[in-house]
Amino acid sequence: MNNEVILKTVGLTKQYGTIKAVDHISFAVQSGQIVGLLGPNGAGKSTTINMILGILQPTDGTVEIFGKNMVAHRSLISRGINFAAVYAHMPPNLTVRQNLRVFGLLYGVKKLNYRIAELLDEFDLEKFASSKAGILSSGELSRLSLAKAVINRPRLLLLDEPTASLDPSISLQIREKIKEYVDKTQTAVLWTSHNMREIEAVCDHVLFLSHGHILLSGDPRSLPSDHGKRDLEELFIAVAREPLSLKET
Ligand code: ATP
Repeated sequence: MNNEVILKTVGLTKQYGTIKAVDHISFAVQSGQIVGLLGPNGAGKSTTINMILGILQPTDGTVEIFGKNMVAHRSLISRGINFAAVYAHMPPNLTVRQNLRVFGLLYGVKKLNYRIAELLDEFDLEKFASSKAGILSSGELSRLSLAKAVINRPRLLLLDEPTASLDPSISLQIREKIKEYVDKTQTAVLWTSHNMREIEAVCDHVLFLSHGHILLSGDPRSLPSDHGKRDLEELFIAVAREPLSLKET
């Protein structure tokens, strides 16, 4: 990690009528760092990610990426970021290669044929290159989604539950691919997951969201014992059930 701050949010807030989906959250992600964004259903994780991606306009606060304000420099910043999420479907009628070509063209990737060949190799997709995305298994589709997510060599990668609905063995394979990629490229990653063992295995730092607030933050390996819990899963359940008793002062 070279400590360069890639993503910084200050007082980030999203209000829908009387509901504060995200309420004044401030945090940073550095180059080569994997930060876990955790919290129960409805805590505000996807809303946060969508504001970082520039898809949702914050009600208040700022998102700075590569030292620039997201709202003012969205198109410049967008070239250097990317994301993967189960709900972001790959067009099923296009082949794996065609999918990568479309996204490569959207991001203006140079030497695209070379980059596609590199990704097919890196994500073990060569034998599916001419298969339509619609026939791929969940694990194969996740690898395609990740290949798409790094096609533009992003310096910031947002992963919204990248292993949701995958079996434990495929999840491990996907996690290892991402870790390998981050070690090699020093990409900054913000990762949401409900799988606490996964978070312990991959994240350098975690942020616990509850009702739109960052309730706790720290090292996923020491945070549970700091709060008298055995592991991250037990801490997660406590955050979901009794958030006020855990609030950091
Ligand atoms: P999950 O783990 O279930 O995906 P989440 O942490 O990603 O949940 P969000 O989807 O960010 O949670 O939602 C945060 C809160 O904001 C929820 O209470 C949700 O109902 C509310 N919300 C999200 N989008 C809207 C919207 N467009 N209009 C009104 N309320 C919304």
